Amino acid sequence: MPHQNSPKLAFCCPTIDAQPWADAMAKALPEAQIQIWPDCTEQADYAITWAPTQAFFDAQPQLKAVFALGAGVDGLLKLRLPESLAVVRIEDGGMAAQMQDYVTHALLRHVRRFDQYAQDIRAGKWIQYPAQDHASFPVGILGLGELGSKIAERVRDIGFPVVGWSKSPKTMEGIRCFSGEELYKFLSMSRVLVCALPLTPHTQDILNEQHLSLLKPGAYLINIARGAHLVEEDLLKLLASGHMAGACLDVMRTEPAPANHPFRSHPQITLTPHISAMTLLAPSIAQISQKIMSLRNGQAITGVIQRGRGY
Ligand code: NAP
Repeated sequence: MPHQNSPKLAFCCPTIDAQPWADAMAKALPEAQIQIWPDCTEQADYAITWAPTQAFFDAQPQLKAVFALGAGVDGLLKLRLPESLAVVRIEDGGMAAQMQDYVTHALLRHVRRFDQYAQDIRAGKWIQYPAQDHASFPVGILGLGELGSKIAERVRDIGFPVVGWSKSPKTMEGIRCFSGEELYKFLSMSRVLVCALPLTPHTQDILNEQHLSLLKPGAYLINIARGAHLVEEDLLKLLASGHMAGACLDVMRTEPAPANHPFRSHPQITLTPHISAMTLLAPSIAQISQKIMSLRNGQAITGVIQRGRGY
C-alpha cells in the first residue's frame, strides 16, 4: 500500500502500451506510487522509459534515475538530461539468449548455403555444392559486453574459431581477444563479422569500406546492434565487388526500411525488423525493481551508463 515515503515511479513509453509494464511493477514493488506519462500529476523519483520524449524529462526535474527498457541508450542520450540523472540500461534480461539464437541461425544458414539452396530450388535447379567446414569461417565479434560475450561463447561452443574486440582488454576461454588499437588485426582474422557494439560517436559508421575490406574474402556481416554502425552504400559496393558474400541485418539506419531501399530486394541480404532480442517483461521488471530497492537502500547498482563514453 503506497504511503508518504513510497517510491514514486513514472513510466514514459509513448510508442508501446505501458499498462502491462506498470501492472507488473506494481506487483514487484507494491509500496510504489506508479503513474504513466502523460497522466502524471506528481514529481517522480524514478522513470522507466521506452522512446521517451523531451517533454517528459522537462516536466520531471526531480528524477534520480531513469531506467531504459532496453540495452542500448543511444536514443535516450540524444535528449537533454540533467548531468546528475543516473541513466540505467537493461543488462541481458533474457536478451543474450535471443541474440545467441539469432546469430547462430544466421551464421549456420550462411555456412550451410541455405539461401543459395532456396534460390536454386525456386529456380528449378537441384545442385549439391561442396561441404564447407567451420574452420574456414572464423567469426569476429565486435563488442564483448553483456550480449557480445555470450554470442562469442555460443559460436565457439558450436565449433567455429572466434575472435573478439572490445574497448578494454579481456580474456575469454578459447577466444582470442583484441582491444582498442588492435581493430585491424582483429578484422584481418575474421571472415564472419558480428556487430554487438553500442552506438557511440566512436562506433558510428565503423562498418565501412575501409574496415570491411580488411575481412577475409567472401566475408559475411551480421549486424544486431544499430543501423548507424553500417555505411550502407559501402556494403553494396563490397557485395558488388565480390569481397563480401552477404549480410544479415536486424537494424537499419532508417526503420522501418523504406519500401524502395535496395537492401529489401538484394539477393545477398537478409533483413529482419529489429527483432534479434526483444525486451522481456518479467526479467526486465524484476531487474529494475531490484535496482530501485537497492538505490533506496543507498546501495550501488550495475548497468549505469558512463555518460562520457556513451554506453
Ligand atoms: P555492453 O554490455 O555495454 O557492451 C558493449 C561492448 O562494446 C563492450 O565490450 C565494450 O567494451 C565494447 N565497446 C564499446 N565501445 C567500444 C569502442 N569504442 N571500441 C571497442 N569496443 C567498444 O552492451 P550490450 O548489452 O552487449 O549491448 C550492445 C548493443 O546491442 C546495445 O548498445 C544495443 O545498441 C544493441 N542491441 C540491439 C538489440 C536488437 O534487438 N537489435 C537488442 C539489444 C541490444 P568494454 O567491454 O571494454 O567496455
